[in-house]
Amino acid sequence: MLAKKLVCLECQAVSEPTPDAYLCPQCTDESTWAQHRCPDRPGILDVRYEMPGSSSEFLAGVAIAGRRDLFRYQSLLPIAPCPDLLPTGSTPLFSAPRLAARLGLETLWIKDETKNPTQCLKDRATAVGVSIAHASGRPDLFCASAGNAAISLAGYCAHRGLTSHVFVPRRASEVRLSWLQRYGAQITVSKGDYDRAVADSEVEGRKQGWWSRNCAYNPFLVEGKKTVAFEISEQLDWSAPDVVAAPVGDGCTLAAIGKGFRELREIGVLPKSPRLIGVQADANRPLVEAFAASRNRELSPRRDASTRAASIDVKHPRNQTRLLAELSGCAGELVTAQDAEITTAQAWLSQEAGVVAEFTSAAALVGLRKTLERASPSSLDQENSELPPRTAVLVLTGGRVDD
Ligand SMILES: *Cc1c(COP(=O)(O)O)cnc(C)c1O
Ligand SMILES: [Zn+2]
Repeated sequence: MLAKKLVCLECQAVSEPTPDAYLCPQCTDESTWAQHRCPDRPGILDVRYEMPGSSSEFLAGVAIAGRRDLFRYQSLLPIAPCPDLLPTGSTPLFSAPRLAARLGLETLWIKDETKNPTQCLKDRATAVGVSIAHASGRPDLFCASAGNAAISLAGYCAHRGLTSHVFVPRRASEVRLSWLQRYGAQITVSKGDYDRAVADSEVEGRKQGWWSRNCAYNPFLVEGKKTVAFEISEQLDWSAPDVVAAPVGDGCTLAAIGKGFRELREIGVLPKSPRLIGVQADANRPLVEAFAASRNRELSPRRDASTRAASIDVKHPRNQTRLLAELSGCAGELVTAQDAEITTAQAWLSQEAGVVAEFTSAAALVGLRKTLERASPSSLDQENSELPPRTAVLVLTGGRVDD
């Protein structure tokens, strides 16, 4: 591995970045797997690098990499790309002036992750995953997923002749199952929700010795996801917007975006990180609750009993520690979206920006709208005394529409 070390986000223990590194043994109650339950607060490991000594060293590395995909940021990735990788990343960033006007922004950019090989941001993690599996000669990979991570894994495995073992919730959509079938995945439908599918996948994956693409646990996969932040910055001439919004399930995606911008700041490429805005469904909002509790804030009562935002319908978010740390480093926010609000946002995205977002993805627009309303000059308060944001990036994480 090309990383320098791994650091546990719970106990700060330092370990070697070997291809099989996983959770911190000290901080993870492994006995829960046997009961098909996930450990409560697992010790997630964070990958650390010998950081480029200066912004010019980093930018020179990007320039000489001579490739369009996410591996052009090689100095901040844990592995070299496998040969013949599906073309991952380099997705478009474009301005959406009608939505910007609606939100009262000077500029709103959409980072269109639906242009990845399997139409989702998840491909960034998978690209790193299959590269590690290739380097360490592992032909079988597994993951648990409401659809997108599994479809991504299945597509990349199909391309490389690897076997994908995917564990989906009982209520996985027909559309998602059919994508998995097209790619030839080995599918296990679990007896419960996503959280149960994760536990099932860990039990079986461990027993069989398969390589794990469970992004929330495998420390190397978040590294792929963070490249979306590098690209956004590169596409803005190595600057950053005021805010970046994305939907939040396990928390890996938004935390990875935060890590990417933070690393650019640490190297000196950016003067400051953008504010992260994360969005959970009103019906299932554990991270919003943890975030509010950490700030002694009251939340309004939940109104939705269930949500159609399947890709963020996660009851036990596994990257809570990572995400909360990134949020406090950038004055970030976590907000909720009701399904009715997401439906409206999904229509705005297609009718006023020309993009088809999957339901989960459209939640990001609800969060952006709510945060901007709160930050408007008339509602400025002590806690939020900065100038209102003028520029924002909405990360369109996926475009697979279920019906
Ligand atoms: C997985 C996913 C998310 C959320 O990512 P987490 O890492 O679970 O927070 C958001 N949007 C889409 C489309 C996804 O597939
Ligand atoms: Zn630990």
